[in-house]
Amino acid sequence: MALAALSTAFSFLKVMMNMKQLVATGQAGDGREKALLDHVVKTAEKDNPLSVLNVMDAYAKASGWLMNIGDDKGPILDMALEKYNPRVVLELGTLCGYSAVRIASQLHKEGSKILSFEMSAENCNIARQIIEHAGLSSKVDVVEGKFNERIDVAKKFLEEMNSPYFDFVFLDHWKDRYMPDYLLLKENALVGNGSGICADNMGPIIGPADFRKYVKTHPEELETSEYKSHAEYLWWLPDSVTVSTFKLSTQ
Ligand code: MG
Repeated sequence: MALAALSTAFSFLKVMMNMKQLVATGQAGDGREKALLDHVVKTAEKDNPLSVLNVMDAYAKASGWLMNIGDDKGPILDMALEKYNPRVVLELGTLCGYSAVRIASQLHKEGSKILSFEMSAENCNIARQIIEHAGLSSKVDVVEGKFNERIDVAKKFLEEMNSPYFDFVFLDHWKDRYMPDYLLLKENALVGNGSGICADNMGPIIGPADFRKYVKTHPEELETSEYKSHAEYLWWLPDSVTVSTFKLSTQ
């Protein structure tokens, strides 16, 4: 057990030491994302989201650490989904599709769907295949690109979904983009009164200081609960997930 935790920590540090590559390409640089896809296709039960998530969690612990929300913080996301019961969801930061699978498998409303942005073309390709393996392709649109450069896509999606704004937003991309992208959501009326905004990696060490401060100092705009946990697959690194209700009318 201790050896397995050490191996996960080593795999995490390898990614951190290669941060430049990660920021530039969205990938760790050692092929772990493609290896994950192969592993999921080979070992996870087809059309079974839970099986896909379990395989992804096991892979991230044993073979290559990945920035999924993971199995410890995942239940916080599940709880938020149960609370808001959304139909129209926006995700920023698909990576390999872990949270898209997790969210899509818990969307119960008729015609519910996620629009998920991912900057890396390779990750988009991997995520689409993993989502397909989980049997959830009809519920997830993975879009290549940065949200702030493709707001038109989000607006078009809302039009197609016949919804004035997103019911639920999951922030899980670069931490320095949480604050500016949240402001874009607000300015463009892509969130509305009652929208849920769930943010991963909001912990005191790794979280975005500006957005952390913002949610704490704007209770009239974001009614927020912080759930303390630890970083994905790393018990020794504190982390939090925040769940906020947007309380202003932007329409
Ligand atoms: Mg994350």
